Amino acid sequence: MLMEGSRERIVAYGKRVASEGLAVGTSGNLSEFDPKMGLMAISPSGVGYFDTNPEDVVVMRLDGTIVEGERRPSSEAPLHAQTYRCRPNARAVVHTHSPFATTLAALGQPIRAVHFTIADAGTDVVPLSPYVTFGTPELAESVGKTLAENPKTQAVLMESHGLIACGASMDDAFTLAVNLEFVARVQWQAECVGKPRVLTPSEMGSVAERFSTYGQDASK
Ligand SMILES: [Zn+2]
Repeated sequence: MLMEGSRERIVAYGKRVASEGLAVGTSGNLSEFDPKMGLMAISPSGVGYFDTNPEDVVVMRLDGTIVEGERRPSSEAPLHAQTYRCRPNARAVVHTHSPFATTLAALGQPIRAVHFTIADAGTDVVPLSPYVTFGTPELAESVGKTLAENPKTQAVLMESHGLIACGASMDDAFTLAVNLEFVARVQWQAECVGKPRVLTPSEMGSVAERFSTYGQDASK
């Protein structure tokens, strides 16, 4: 079976996406990309996260050609493919309809620096791409344009739809989706009772510096 490790991670992290409440029902999808083989492994369309097995994961080229798999790939395969084209260092993409990020997407608001953990996205603001029908090449194109216009961001909020997050590993992309759901929740809650304070570019600069040495291995 091609991309066995990726298939297993897509199954395992899919369950975490569901358990963390980042996606409702069969919504949302996950993928990994192997640039050496030029292949993407992506979750199947319309199969529940707890019903997905490694063999259900579809392996395909970025142009949409299916290489291995019996299932139909996620309808957002073009969106994942476009994200890998726009972010050559990305090895995983997680797309969610997480409730608070989607609330801001419904309000047509980007995710702002109301909490310093937004720095995990590599940016002070997670940009909003204009509304386009789900599962279309036009949506992939539109998100690709937003990624090109915002070269640092590792995530995009899709208007009236949800979030897409990428990373150097599945764990990075998943953790970013979780962190951004927290920031979106804080932003929405703060807006319910007042006007949230947004961190200044200089404050966010200091956060980015701290983030570069944060964690168990400062040499990383
Ligand atoms: Zn979606």
